Amino acid sequence: MVIDMPSKNWDERAGNCNPTYVIIHYTGTKTADEAKNRFCDKAPADQIGRIAPHYMIDGNGDILRFVDESKRAWHAGHSKWKNIEDMNSASIGVEIWNSGHEHQLEEFLVEQIESVISLIEEIKGRWNIPDANILGHSDIAPGRKLDPGEKFPWRKLEVNGIGLMPELLTEQGGQAQELLETPDKFYTRLSEFGYTYTQNQDVLLKEFRRHYLPQSLDIQELDIESCQAILSLLRQSA
Ligand SMILES: [Zn+2]
Repeated sequence: MVIDMPSKNWDERAGNCNPTYVIIHYTGTKTADEAKNRFCDKAPADQIGRIAPHYMIDGNGDILRFVDESKRAWHAGHSKWKNIEDMNSASIGVEIWNSGHEHQLEEFLVEQIESVISLIEEIKGRWNIPDANILGHSDIAPGRKLDPGEKFPWRKLEVNGIGLMPELLTEQGGQAQELLETPDKFYTRLSEFGYTYTQNQDVLLKEFRRHYLPQSLDIQELDIESCQAILSLLRQSA
């Protein structure tokens, strides 16, 4: 079910371009109403200023629409992927109500994920968006943003035909071993894939794992699985 909640927090996409990315967020608010009020400017704007996604998924799975897909909604903030700094012009933003790392970071609800899958399926079809371009806010703003967070079920989306996830078993060991022994080559591969926002390698590795290898989030060092994962993702997105 799609419910319109028109927001004023948008303008035209640069050059009236089409969206080619989907960026997934969590709201990071204790209640869903808090987020809705913020997006419709019914709450006082603090230092974050005026923001809105195109869509927000409520706790019961309802899909709220704040901004038309053809317009530039203000959801990405300071961010970068590959050479794109105006990610708002390049993307459609989808927020999911979850209290986030500052509160409970509770599991996403089954109804929410079902709605995310059906919504993005439609968006992908409408705008011909490649799976490699379905990203989290933390991917395009590493070090500044953690959402949608390590509990977001990226693998479940991938099984449903949305987004890329690494296929570790199909990777050959030799190339991965080379990245492991020469970490600079690993980070070069990460930036080829798109991660470019920060030069801090520890942050990049952590945010890469938060999305693509959440089971390895707490490992400190570069490991062979991370090397296999980036090779697999590059291969799939080639
Ligand atoms: Zn976000």
